[in-house]
Amino acid sequence: MNQKLVIYNSLSRKKEEFKSIHPEHVGMYVCGPTVYSDVHLGNVRTFLTFDIVYRYLQFIGYKVRYVRNITDVGHLVGDGDEGEDKIAKKARLDNLEPMEVVQKYTNGFHDVMRIFNILNPSIEPTATGHIVEQIEMIQDIIQNGFAYEKNGSVYFNVRKYNESNNYGKLSGRVIDELMNNTRDLDGQDEKNDPLDFAIWKKAEPQHLMQWNSPWGKGFPGWHLECSVMSTKYLGKTFDIHGGGMDLKFPHHECEIAQNIGATGCEPVNYWMHGNMLTVNGRKMAKSEGNGFTPEELITGNHKLLDKGYSPMTVRFFMLQGHYASTLDFSNEALQAAEKGYKRMTAAIKAISHLKPSDKSDEDIHALQKLCYEAMNDDFNTPILISHLFEAVRIVNSAKDQTIQLKAEDIQLLKILFEDFFEKVLGLQVEDEKSNDALTSQLMQFILEMRSKAKANKDFATSDLIRDELQKMNIQIKDTKEGATWSINE
Ligand code: AMP
Ligand code: ZN
Repeated sequence: MNQKLVIYNSLSRKKEEFKSIHPEHVGMYVCGPTVYSDVHLGNVRTFLTFDIVYRYLQFIGYKVRYVRNITDVGHLVGDGDEGEDKIAKKARLDNLEPMEVVQKYTNGFHDVMRIFNILNPSIEPTATGHIVEQIEMIQDIIQNGFAYEKNGSVYFNVRKYNESNNYGKLSGRVIDELMNNTRDLDGQDEKNDPLDFAIWKKAEPQHLMQWNSPWGKGFPGWHLECSVMSTKYLGKTFDIHGGGMDLKFPHHECEIAQNIGATGCEPVNYWMHGNMLTVNGRKMAKSEGNGFTPEELITGNHKLLDKGYSPMTVRFFMLQGHYASTLDFSNEALQAAEKGYKRMTAAIKAISHLKPSDKSDEDIHALQKLCYEAMNDDFNTPILISHLFEAVRIVNSAKDQTIQLKAEDIQLLKILFEDFFEKVLGLQVEDEKSNDALTSQLMQFILEMRSKAKANKDFATSDLIRDELQKMNIQIKDTKEGATWSINE
């Protein structure tokens, strides 16, 4: 561990040198997905951000206990204290048992993580697996005077907490301003104060997911699970807590309040927030209808996509932005990333064919130092990638014999890519075009031929194409934006 790593801490709002609580062991918690729908590419960006943190900490010698939860209860439609549970709603709509919904989307989430080469966490706990611990934490919070029971629900008393603590210190919200924003909406509410939030909710008899508790049948509030599972597996105070920027308030603000309310300890030393993936400047979100699934991205089968892209191209594209900045999705940006990524992988393949000389025109050690410096400065992957492109230039010049390199420098270039391209950035050299990408391009071509036939009033050909594809179980659908295709299950 001879690297001096600096992290931007969302809590102090400044860059701080990273020092772990245990000298050789880092505790890291990242809020996982709510498993009621397919993950979209925006979600992937956040999990990729923390994959890089996990990889780099390990690369510079730390042992990391990485906990990433699965939210399978308590996250209500609307993200507040009212409305149906997102998973229960999906179960009702699809006529499934809630745990079938949970399993289906957890499996899907794991598939996506694997496709993008995002490493598994050390522990992946679920909210429903920790109901007992959640009830215990609520009891501690009540005992410490920071929560009260009302008609079978338990609410966190924000004003009481704020007397001795600072509710809003992470998100920068001011309690009186929050008051003005909530008054009208929550006027009818049973809470003592509209600022209070539920840590346990009474369940109506028809509610699909409910458990016995000292306050009657109910279910835990969404924010509570992360306080409980992080404390259980990482301790009352741990090193790093991550999630997307949109979780800062209320989710993480409430987490801090719950932890301090229960244990009296500040829970997290470094809060890290990944910024959003946007489409035309708007956050990618399921509710916006601008989110595509990784499968659609790979096949290109979505109206926002000109063609399909390989998972490694997408990973490379995302890492060319710093995690703290927004990243706007566009076909142009992805095409540029695809070109850059191919150039880099071609250079990596060329290294083993370079002919050594007895002198070197380049200082590879200096370049290696710059790569560490980029990552040590708050995981600056775009700067790291620019240094790797400098290495690409050196490889290509050596290949063209416009410069010379000693054998040990050729070896060092090889190590540089093994370390930073593969281990730190988690990129892989994709051999040839993946079958999915190829299928997508072929389908795009076939659909173009069909629309040309139609335009020429050659309906015999356009119908033949449709029928032949149907025989292969490929369904064509004509929409206002053009034809789309799907494979019948
Ligand atoms: P959810 O399942 O909605 O709780 O989201 C899982 C993770 O994805 C959270 O950390 C969110 O902050 C993150 N997330 C959601 N939308 C985006 C987006 N457009 N860009 C980046 N991260 C996102
Ligand atoms: Zn969380």
